[in-house]
Amino acid sequence: MENIQCIFCNISSGQIVIEENGYTGRKCPNCGLIYISPRPTFPEILNLYDHDQAHISAESHISGGFVKRLYGKHNLRIIKKFIKHGSMLEIGAGGGYFLDEAKKEGFDVYGIEFNGIQADFIRVKLGIPCEESPLDVSLFDGKKFDIIYHCDVISHFYDPISEFQKINDMLKQNGIVIFETGNFGDVKEEYYRFVAKFQYPDHLFFFSENNLKELLKLTGFEFVEIYRYSLLPQLMINKMLKKVINVVKFKAKTKKIDKDSRVLSYNIYNSNIRRFSFKQSIKNAYNYFFYLIRYKIGYVMPKKGRLQTVIVIARKGK
Ligand SMILES: [Zn+2]
Repeated sequence: MENIQCIFCNISSGQIVIEENGYTGRKCPNCGLIYISPRPTFPEILNLYDHDQAHISAESHISGGFVKRLYGKHNLRIIKKFIKHGSMLEIGAGGGYFLDEAKKEGFDVYGIEFNGIQADFIRVKLGIPCEESPLDVSLFDGKKFDIIYHCDVISHFYDPISEFQKINDMLKQNGIVIFETGNFGDVKEEYYRFVAKFQYPDHLFFFSENNLKELLKLTGFEFVEIYRYSLLPQLMINKMLKKVINVVKFKAKTKKIDKDSRVLSYNIYNSNIRRFSFKQSIKNAYNYFFYLIRYKIGYVMPKKGRLQTVIVIARKGK
């Protein structure tokens, strides 16, 4: 563990706004960035994913194909407004479903995934090149990409400025970075109660919109566009449903599995395909309902100072 300062302002904040699992999140009084401090060291973080100790297990990444494809297709439609074809790298590829959908759309796809079970699944089952190493220009034989994408990954970056510099280095001239994340640095404290888990210590930084723009500017990007979706309707309905019907629990299992049990994950995947059961249909309908709430209803709801998910597009500058 190491004490850190705001990565933009280099000042230490005494304003603790999150306390979870023995970790503290501090809000920078100058720029609003919320950062974990003390922060686990880089080897400690890698260990988290390598041993499948992260909040979202390999099992739920792999078995969640329906919903991952649904969300992935939404973001692909946005990507295609800016670039219609080319090579695409996803950082933190999860179960690989977004890349698989992008491949169907004709993109030349590659993934980075720290979790060995998931990386193996992406390579073997989906036939997509996938590295398990941290971001580096030497990956994939030094290949440069037209698009680099990540979803709900930026908060996991150990050093976001250095990661975005690497993303810039790995892009072709005029290439684009597109990513989805929360706007937690902008959220008023009265809305914090809607967040069930901050997922400490998986998450290390929570950004405001200005933080994201600053990060892009510092690392050689030109900001292009931002799409905002309110998460409040989704979170409120979720909270209500949990109270009313405790029986309906479609939450991903937090069961821990080690590297040797990759066979188990495959079996879950295979049985999901074979048995498209009634229960599975209900689960898919439920997920589709939440997808509509998130991206359709959330798009038109009031957003200022409230919880959002945002999709940011930026271009590699000259
Ligand atoms: Zn700051």
